[in-house]
Amino acid sequence: MNRAILTIDDISSLNTRWMVDYLVEKDIVAVMFARGENVEKFYEEAIYAVKNGMIVGNHSYSHKAFSELSLKEAIEEIEKCEKVLDKLYKDAGVQRKYRPFRFPYGNKGGENRAQIQKYLRENGFSKLDDRAISYPWWRENGANEDIDTFWTFDFEEYRISWNDGFTRESSLMKMDDPNPQNGGPLFGENIANIILTHAHDETEAVWPKYLKEMVERAIAGGVTFVKPEFI
Ligand SMILES: [Zn+2]
Repeated sequence: MNRAILTIDDISSLNTRWMVDYLVEKDIVAVMFARGENVEKFYEEAIYAVKNGMIVGNHSYSHKAFSELSLKEAIEEIEKCEKVLDKLYKDAGVQRKYRPFRFPYGNKGGENRAQIQKYLRENGFSKLDDRAISYPWWRENGANEDIDTFWTFDFEEYRISWNDGFTRESSLMKMDDPNPQNGGPLFGENIANIILTHAHDETEAVWPKYLKEMVERAIAGGVTFVKPEFI
C-alpha cells in the first residue's frame, strides 16, 4: 500500500475555501499549517477550514527562519500563532483536539533545535503519527523523534512563481521521479509519505486548480490519502 497524509502550508489565503471544498468532496482531511498573520488576514477562510473538518496547525505567526531567531523570539512566534488558533477554533465552535507544528521553511532553529523540541514536547504540541514512514533518512535526521511535522514529498509548486525555469510540468514530472533529489518518491509499493503543498494567493494565475491536479494524479498513481493521526 502507498499511503500519504496531505499537508498544506501557509493558510489561509483567497483559495482556501476552494481547497476545502475540493478536499471535502474527495473525503480527504488535510493538516493545514497556518501562518498566524494570514489567518488574521483571511479569517473567514480559516474558519471555513476548521468548520469543514480540516486540522489547522501552527506554522508560526510571521514565518521567519527560526535559525535567525533567539530561543525567546522563536517561542514568541509559536505562541503568538497559538493564540490566533485558539481564538479561531473557539470562533468556529469546534473543539481543538490537536496542536501540530511545522517550522517555516522546515528550518528547525539551528543552535536552538533541541530547546525548541523540548518546548514543543512540554507544551502540549501534537506529533503526527509518522511510524509508517520507512525511509532510512527520516530516522537518520531524527524526524521520527521530533515533535514538529516535517515532510517527505514536496510538490515544489511555489517555485513556479520564482521564474527560475521550474514550471507546472516540472512539478508533475517530480511526481513521477522514482529517486528525487530530496525526500522520497511519491509512487511505490509499501511506502508512506507526508506530502507538502501550499496555499497561494497568486496560484489562479500561475497554475489554476493545482491542488486538484496533484491529488488526482497522486490517486491515479496508487496513493491513498489517509486521515492524520497523532501519537
Ligand atoms: Zn511556509
